[in-house]
Amino acid sequence: MSEGKKGALDWYFKSNLLMRILIGLILGAIVGLLAGDSIMWVAPFGTLFVRLLQMIVMPVIFATLVMGSASISPAELGKVGVKIVLFYLFTSALAVAIGLGMANIFRPGSGLGLTGADGVAGRALQQPALRDTLLNIVPTNPFGALASGAVLPVIFFAILFGIGISYLKISSDERIRKAGETLFVIFDGAAEVMYIMVRWVLQYAPIGVFALLAVVFAQQGAAAAGPLGIVIVAVYLGLILHVVVVYGGILKINGLSFVKFIKGSREAMLTAFVTRSSGGTLPVTMRNAEGNLGVSRKVHSFTLPLGATINMDGTAIYLGVCALFIGYAIGMPLGFGQQITIILTAVLASIGTAGVPGAGAIMLLMVLQSVGLPIEDGSAVAAAYAMILGIDAILDMGRTCANVTGDLTGTSIVAKSENELDLSCWS
Ligand code: ASP
Repeated sequence: MSEGKKGALDWYFKSNLLMRILIGLILGAIVGLLAGDSIMWVAPFGTLFVRLLQMIVMPVIFATLVMGSASISPAELGKVGVKIVLFYLFTSALAVAIGLGMANIFRPGSGLGLTGADGVAGRALQQPALRDTLLNIVPTNPFGALASGAVLPVIFFAILFGIGISYLKISSDERIRKAGETLFVIFDGAAEVMYIMVRWVLQYAPIGVFALLAVVFAQQGAAAAGPLGIVIVAVYLGLILHVVVVYGGILKINGLSFVKFIKGSREAMLTAFVTRSSGGTLPVTMRNAEGNLGVSRKVHSFTLPLGATINMDGTAIYLGVCALFIGYAIGMPLGFGQQITIILTAVLASIGTAGVPGAGAIMLLMVLQSVGLPIEDGSAVAAAYAMILGIDAILDMGRTCANVTGDLTGTSIVAKSENELDLSCWS
């Protein structure tokens, strides 16, 4: 390698990664705003970053979770499971309440007086029955589930497989015991390889982040300045309040420093912000949980994939604010009873939201339906909904960041309660 080349690459690889990502983020936003549509050619560079992360998601979940559940007893795993699900549900309900509070204060959309507009298409909502949702957790074909990226069935299979390995490891038959130990080592190795690959992918992150942000701001930057600006302010204030007060408070009650937490989670938070996918961010979330926050693999291998699938506090806040926005925008503000209904449906909707970009906007339809505001072709509700869709990427960035922060908070405190947290990472 020539000297000059080495110098330039040296600068890139030796400077602080987070700093580089932040620079990419700010530059991307500025360039997107200034250049508008003419910058759209950078889009594939952003897609490349997201695809690189997605490439690692299923292998990392599977390898880490098999290993995690092979080293924890089923009883302990059950305890971790109950604790984390309770945490996820409790904080999601608080999140919707905060979202509603923000919307009641800011009253986004009031005075817009939207009436029906022709040509605004509604979206059909297909809601699977609860029974089917639960049954679908058991894969009929685990390889099919892995191949199609279905997280819950993979979690289910990986846990059983891991428990199977732990039984092999204590077998009195030497052949079987050796087979168990070998499998364990193989999955341990596979998980480690995945973490190395995450490190490589992150080296590309600054360029990917620049491209992703430039595209979002080129497309939606202008819309953010209009009456929708108030929706953005209400959602983002709600998100910040939730992260600082609810997560900060819960961490403090558990004797953990919020500042240390944010420092340890920054990479995952930024990645979630720009990729708008908690599922895609998972490899980075796991890396931060283990490397920076000191959460044992036994705990995070289970709680983080589960969180990326069912715990969406940011989405819950967004659902609260936007449902009220639509009520105000069409001149039918939602009353107290309807707001209570929203708390219930938004928690369920956030659980059902997939950790992919834009999924929350689909769930908003379910919430609207629950309060008697179904989307019909050309209706005022459809017009208001279309307005929200116009800024969805900007809202999605913030809510996904909060979603991932919630997963890491829950994981940290459950790990602490199980003595599975390396406290030296927090001192
Ligand atoms: N994009 C979000 C996530 O992946 C889900 C949503 O759209 O609310 O966490």
